Amino acid sequence: MPLQIVRNDITTMKVDAIVNAANESLLGGGGVDGAIHRAAGPQLLEECRTLGGCKTGQAKITKGYRLPARYVIHTVGPVWQGGSHGEKSLLVSAYRSSLELAAAHHCESMAFPLISSGVYGYPKDQALQVAVDTIRSFLQSHDLTVYLVIFDRAAYTIGGKLFQEIAAYIDDRYVEAHTSPYESERRRMAAASAPMSAPAPAMFGSLLGELDQALGQLDESFSQMLLRKIDESGMTDAQCYKKANIDRKLFSKIRSDVHYKPSKATAMAFAVALELPLDQARELLKKAGYAFSPASKFDIIVEYFITHKNYDIFQINQALFAFDQSLLGG
Ligand code: ADP
Repeated sequence: MPLQIVRNDITTMKVDAIVNAANESLLGGGGVDGAIHRAAGPQLLEECRTLGGCKTGQAKITKGYRLPARYVIHTVGPVWQGGSHGEKSLLVSAYRSSLELAAAHHCESMAFPLISSGVYGYPKDQALQVAVDTIRSFLQSHDLTVYLVIFDRAAYTIGGKLFQEIAAYIDDRYVEAHTSPYESERRRMAAASAPMSAPAPAMFGSLLGELDQALGQLDESFSQMLLRKIDESGMTDAQCYKKANIDRKLFSKIRSDVHYKPSKATAMAFAVALELPLDQARELLKKAGYAFSPASKFDIIVEYFITHKNYDIFQINQALFAFDQSLLGG
């Protein structure tokens, strides 16, 4: 998954590069900076001394020393001064400079802390939005796996209103699923026993055509259905897997293996990327052997976004994260 939001201590991340939210002196500080220097050992500070500091919005690279990461990219985010002092563009620039430096050093994976959101006082929800938007736009043109590491849960909020709406939606589904276990069965039986009306002869030709098509699609595999839906959507393959937050390697596996069985998160990610309405999303999932379950928070949250026609996978992932669920993608 090219962008993953995880909860972790960044000093333990096994990636090519971790990013440090440093200050302009690069001579160490508190917060994540202190933690990185402690974990990397004194040689990191020695190398930092040779760099001559770093301007806000820029980035410099050093080795990782005792860290599991090969490199540390030191960037300086802005101090929050109310929002009208160019903070946002400086924060965007801190992320972009770090991403570019990682790409220039052929990193395939990197991890960011939520820059400026600690001592520098950038409001956490806005800091998160800048991080997600900037990383995601960079990933449109680069193959890189980026982890956004959230340290404390308090740092992570989706809008209170959205959170409440989703919580209410989950509640409703749970209630439905738990209070009337026989209701859906009863409805299914009633529908099955309803008399079918015969089609008018004029409709018959087109009905047969549709039936033919439906039968043809009965044997379609997940991979075949996915490729067909991508064609029908007018998207290119790359546009689709990027939108699904799926990396290129996984996509080519799915494309080259007709019988590939994706994980549920991958299948759902494609349903979202293709902006399928709920019935078609169900169909795609079914091809991979899955269904939306009213007993799963994960499923209900994705369903919430689909029924609200919000197909932004990063927003969905933020919501999934807020409800302690695994995320969409490969
Ligand atoms: P800044 O000065 O840029 O605000 P801070 O280090 O004070 O930098 O905080 C940046 C973010 O890093 C905060 O959200 C903080 O919770 C988080 N953080 C602190 N320690 C760690 C760590 N070990 N791993 C990941 N994130 C951390």
